[in-house]
Amino acid sequence: MPLDTLDALVRSNFTSLDGVTIDHTSFAQLTTLHLGGTPAATIRCATTRAVVDVVTLLDAHNIPLIIVGGGSNLVVADGELPVVAVVLECDAIAIDTTTGLVEVEAGAVWDHVVDLCVEQGLGGLECLSGIPGSAGATPVQNVGAYGVEISDLLTEVELYHRDSGKREWVAAADLELAYRYSNLKFTARAVVLAIRLQLYTDGLSAPIRFGELARSLNLPQSEAEARTNPRTVREAVLQLRGMKGMVYDENDHDTWSAGSFFTNPIVSAEQAETVRALVRTTFDDDTARRMPCFDVGDQRKLSAAWLIDRAGFSKGYPHEGAARLSTKHTLALTNRGNATTQDLVALAQEIRDGVEQKFGVRLHPEPVWIGVSID
Ligand SMILES: Cc1cc2nc3c(=O)[nH]c(=O)nc-3n(C[C@H](O)[C@H](O)[C@H](O)COP(=O)(O)OP(=O)(O)OC[C@H]3O[C@@H](n4cnc5c(N)ncnc54)[C@H](O)[C@@H]3O)c2cc1C
Repeated sequence: MPLDTLDALVRSNFTSLDGVTIDHTSFAQLTTLHLGGTPAATIRCATTRAVVDVVTLLDAHNIPLIIVGGGSNLVVADGELPVVAVVLECDAIAIDTTTGLVEVEAGAVWDHVVDLCVEQGLGGLECLSGIPGSAGATPVQNVGAYGVEISDLLTEVELYHRDSGKREWVAAADLELAYRYSNLKFTARAVVLAIRLQLYTDGLSAPIRFGELARSLNLPQSEAEARTNPRTVREAVLQLRGMKGMVYDENDHDTWSAGSFFTNPIVSAEQAETVRALVRTTFDDDTARRMPCFDVGDQRKLSAAWLIDRAGFSKGYPHEGAARLSTKHTLALTNRGNATTQDLVALAQEIRDGVEQKFGVRLHPEPVWIGVSID
């Protein structure tokens, strides 16, 4: 469908809906990478009812759409795109400090939710401080950081099923949440309208499982998985993330990213030993011994950041150019202010291929791609 027809169709059908506003904000303005062209229309929904109405109508007209929260996990093509961006701005938050039950609408800013819960004395979310984006996107890739994943606290999600038109609360278990995965990711089969969380009411944080965080909190090694003050943990996490450029800041190009660009590869135990042998040949015994490698059932999780660095792509690579690795973290691909999506894709390909040539491990991107691909 030509773009102007699409625009006219959207305007004639959607302008009268309650809680809906329409503009032409580009993906460069909607995403933390500040990349991507212009959608046929940008429809902002202030209520969950408006989200359901808009998605129902777009689907009825077979108009392609992309749900956008904070745009912090999106890589979008340059140019004009025959797709409507549906931006979720419904953001009610209900916190019950007696039971620890929290219900949040999808468009709420995630870090605001964490901050409010910590402020009201509830524990559990503090390790997920500083993750950009919306509450509704947290189940989509089962966000995680510093040893905690949203699956540890999520009990239910309210979904709008696009095929059946049904709106219902479903158990978190039905989403098959796993490392940076749910059955919502890459499928767009349903819209998350709201989430429910069960937090701790005893004034303590989630167990601290991440070594770097435990050290920064001065927790004794003998107290593995200790629980402590949620506010102190939140501050420590924000400080650690800040040093790595992992707290989004409009004024810092090191944070114009999608966070970790590649997921940590999960490989067989045999392949992990092959990689270790290659590291030994390329470097030395000591480097091979220290290669990060964690048990995940009978498989092994390697560190994408470590492999990228050892493949010769150091922080800031390629030290000039519009798209570069963050100067604070090898796993974040960044826009230095004037990059195009094509610049970013070229860098992503170079890094993925460089790691594969050196260690035989193929890295897979974590963000969702719209109108463009790494292959
Ligand atoms: C600096 C930085 C640091 C980051 N650190 C982390 C981290 O520590 N851990 C981590 O896991 N991630 C991290 N991320 C990635 C990102 O912040 C998370 O994945 C976040 O949950 C994305 O939320 P969003 O609202 O921005 O989603 P968007 O980018 O707007 O959307 C991402 C995908 O989810 C879909 N989606 C969004 N909302 C909904 C909804 N309500 N219903 C259905 N589908 C939806 C979109 O259609 C799209 O496919 C980081 C990103 C940045 C820029």
